[in-house]
Amino acid sequence: MHQDCIFCKIAAKQLPTQFIYEDEFMVVFPDINPATPVHVLVIPKKHIANLLELQPEDKDLVAHIMMTIPKIVSQLGLSENGFRLVVNTKENGGQTVNHLHWHILGGRFMTWPPG
Ligand code: 5GP
Ligand code: ZN
Repeated sequence: MHQDCIFCKIAAKQLPTQFIYEDEFMVVFPDINPATPVHVLVIPKKHIANLLELQPEDKDLVAHIMMTIPKIVSQLGLSENGFRLVVNTKENGGQTVNHLHWHILGGRFMTWPPG
C-alpha cells in the first residue's frame, strides 16, 4: 500500500467504491469520469506505478489479470460488439494516476487513432 495513492486506497477499501470484480490479486471498478457508456478500471492490488515498472516476479500477476479480463468483458456485455483495452503510460500516454491500470472501454463505436 502506497501512501497517497488513490488506487491503493480503493483496493484497500479505504474509499467507498463499488467493485465489479475482486479477487486476491486485483479489483475492477467503474471509472469516476466515464469516457464511454461502459468504462471500468482493472488494477492489481499491489502498487506498481506503471507498465514500465513491472518486475520479473510480476509475471504471474499480469498473466492472471490478462486472463481475467475476458471474463470481466463478458460480464459487462461487451463480448459481442467488442471493446478497447488501454494502458496509458507516463506523460505522453496521458497517465494521471500512477498505479498501473487497464481501462476497459465499450458500449459504443470508437474511432482510431486516439486524439
Ligand atoms: P489514466 O488517466 O491514469 O489512464 O486513468 C486514470 C483514470 O482514473 C481516469 O479515467 C479517472 O477518471 C479515474 N479516476 C481518478 N480518480 C478516481 C477515483 O477516485 N475513483 C474512480 N473510480 N476513478 C478515478
Ligand atoms: Zn497504488
